[in-house]
Amino acid sequence: AISNASNLVKRGSASLDRIEEILAAEETITNKPNPVILKEFNKSIEFRNVSFRYKEEYVLHNINLIIEKGKTVALVGPSGGGKSTLADLIPRFYDVMEGEVLIDGINVKDCEMHSMRSLMGIVTQESLLFNDTIKNNIAFGMPDKTEEEIIQAARTANAMEFIEQTVDGFETNIGERGSKLSGGQRQRISIARAVLKNPDILILDEATSSLDTSSERQVQDALENLM
Ligand code: ADP
Ligand code: MG
Repeated sequence: AISNASNLVKRGSASLDRIEEILAAEETITNKPNPVILKEFNKSIEFRNVSFRYKEEYVLHNINLIIEKGKTVALVGPSGGGKSTLADLIPRFYDVMEGEVLIDGINVKDCEMHSMRSLMGIVTQESLLFNDTIKNNIAFGMPDKTEEEIIQAARTANAMEFIEQTVDGFETNIGERGSKLSGGQRQRISIARAVLKNPDILILDEATSSLDTSSERQVQDALENLM
């Protein structure tokens, strides 16, 4: 027992070092003093002379783009072309080197981040799911939503059929990162989450690219319902 315990302590302390490294990492993207609180999205998202690089080489050069409210804009281009990077600049996951990203004419660097991001729903290739029930994964971050709203969101996302087939329905635990579900099912849970949030700005980054044709069709239909 003693040798086992010493083993556990060693493992724990190694993990602690790694966790501390993350907790202590410096936050480079922060709210400026007296940020603007965004309550709604009214006009447009604008990229004005935006250039961005991760390291030395520029990924985006002098991008100018206006996306008006109500419009659907698709970015098409080769892998590594910078599509995800451009999308990531809208919720300010990175700060631009030159130029500005504006929401309704306000620089995202001047916006209060939580209020700005709460206007957005994001569905990517990798769905961010947690070791919890289907219901809690759909309502993640939205504790005030009712059962009825959650069911409605699952229906819009084309997820109802497979949820009803599980033994515990909405109470089914989906495993670490949703490992007990298929790729298409995970995507539809993510879409249900976006539907429930009903955001003004919806960012989809290859939401269907890892799926087979029939799952893709279902997810595509779900996305159309959402929009
Ligand atoms: P796309 O989504 O169009 O395939 P990305 O925006 O993911 O393209 O990538 C654009 C370029 O930026 C690529 O050359 C890629 O290697 C680089 N890149 C993407 N993410 C990072 C990162 N976190 N750190 C460094 N370079 C990155
Ligand atoms: Mg990409």
